Amino acid sequence: MHEVDVVVVGAGLAGLSAARRLVAAGRTVTVLEARDRVAGRTHGGFLGNGTPVELGGQWVGPTQDAVLGLIDELGLETFPSFDEGQYLTVLDGKVIPYTDESYGLPPRSAAEVARLWTELETRAATVAVEAPWETEGAEGLDRGTLDSWLVEHTEDDVARRFFRRIVPSLFSAETPELSLLHFLFYVKSGTSLTALMTTTGGAQESRVVGGTHRIAERMAAELGDRVRLNAVVRTVRQDESGVVVEYESDSVTARRAVTARHAVVAVPQTLAGRIRYVPPLPALRDGLTQQMPAGSVIKFQIGYDTPFWREEGLNGLVLSLDPGDAFDVVLDNSPQDASCGVLVGFFEGAHARRAGLLSAEERRQLVLSSLVKYFGPKAAHPFDVVELDWSAEEFTRGCYGGRLAAGAWTQYGAALSAPVGRIHWAGAETAAIWNGYMDGAVRSGHRAATEILDKPA
Ligand SMILES: Cc1cc2nc3c(=O)[nH]c(=O)nc-3n(C[C@H](O)[C@H](O)[C@H](O)COP(=O)(O)OP(=O)(O)OC[C@H]3O[C@@H](n4cnc5c(N)ncnc54)[C@H](O)[C@@H]3O)c2cc1C
Repeated sequence: MHEVDVVVVGAGLAGLSAARRLVAAGRTVTVLEARDRVAGRTHGGFLGNGTPVELGGQWVGPTQDAVLGLIDELGLETFPSFDEGQYLTVLDGKVIPYTDESYGLPPRSAAEVARLWTELETRAATVAVEAPWETEGAEGLDRGTLDSWLVEHTEDDVARRFFRRIVPSLFSAETPELSLLHFLFYVKSGTSLTALMTTTGGAQESRVVGGTHRIAERMAAELGDRVRLNAVVRTVRQDESGVVVEYESDSVTARRAVTARHAVVAVPQTLAGRIRYVPPLPALRDGLTQQMPAGSVIKFQIGYDTPFWREEGLNGLVLSLDPGDAFDVVLDNSPQDASCGVLVGFFEGAHARRAGLLSAEERRQLVLSSLVKYFGPKAAHPFDVVELDWSAEEFTRGCYGGRLAAGAWTQYGAALSAPVGRIHWAGAETAAIWNGYMDGAVRSGHRAATEILDKPA
């Protein structure tokens, strides 16, 4: 006898979406979550004045129908991100305001960026997102890195710097760390590079009132005591009759177990690879977990008495191409009523790895010195600075999500979401559409639930 029909590992958006769909279809479910909270990479926090801020995933946008539908079903609301006024690009010490598509770059470099952008979009449109390894010419696209493609396709130093900067803002990883095929897959998965990079009309269009963690919290509230917190899954055993999922809990020394017909493992791939499977996973599937490291990001929310940059006609968005600016992507994240000003920004990729070695005070000084450079002396006096280093989180170990380096899609990609016996895989990294995003996480949970519901009882 099984205790439940399905045990779900991980109470992020993927695991909870799977559980919710299975319960709606009449299946019994237990969700095991390692942390003392749900929501995984969509963690909520507060500034000192009580303003809620998103420490993890925060924006949603058009075509993200799965997460937008869920937000609606759960009775939550969204509001538009602030996007009025001039953007800033920082290049060779100059802070350049702009409003057009030039990114404030010198005309020749802007034209070169536009040419490369179009070429990448055109190539991305050919990727088979459900099976990238089957894309025409996949092996060639997977052979090199995005960086080697850049070096081959442009001699314009500013254009190279531009792409070397925006890639960490999407992946928290550097251009040599991902294959061209992975980059193109990600672009197509998220509709287009323009959609990924845009606020109004793109992936940064809206925020969730009160924070995105409320999506998971509402789902968990519906699931009630089906969700067990502080349950760190260590072993998944399976045979022809079912699965036994063993977990550790801080409150008891002995391991506990849940028996079920099926398991959904909805954790980042690198963590899925740290669970013991009995019998061991097929080599290809285990190899996949070894090929999908997460990026590195430290996210900051900086609170000011007012969004003073708006008075100066700025919308708060900054992209710095200067190597000295470790804190090089910044956006306005003020509350909807602008009762205070909030800037959100990131150390990503190499910058995050270096900054992770500093003290919190040293990181704060780095952040403030960059903000003063971009916005002037008023930026030196926030009332609060809140940070979270996602690489240091035991049950995430890096963000925004997993990526595949050269050769990995074509060698291991087929194992990414293919079930192994009674074990099904979910998580933002397993999604074909909006891979790596909250929307992809929800879609992956729904896909895993459907796989189980489609099986004979
Ligand atoms: C800083 C940051 C900014 C981001 N910005 C955006 C954004 O603006 N828009 C967007 O759409 N996405 C964004 N993302 C990505 C988005 O947050 C994620 O894609 C999504 O939340 C992933 O959901 P998931 O359920 O797949 O994984 P997770 O949220 O990682 O959930 C996995 C769960 O499994 C648990 N777990 C891990 N190991 C075990 C174990 N052994 N046993 C039991 N439980 C375990 C974890 O604690 C976690 O709760 C961002 C992420 C970060 C970190």
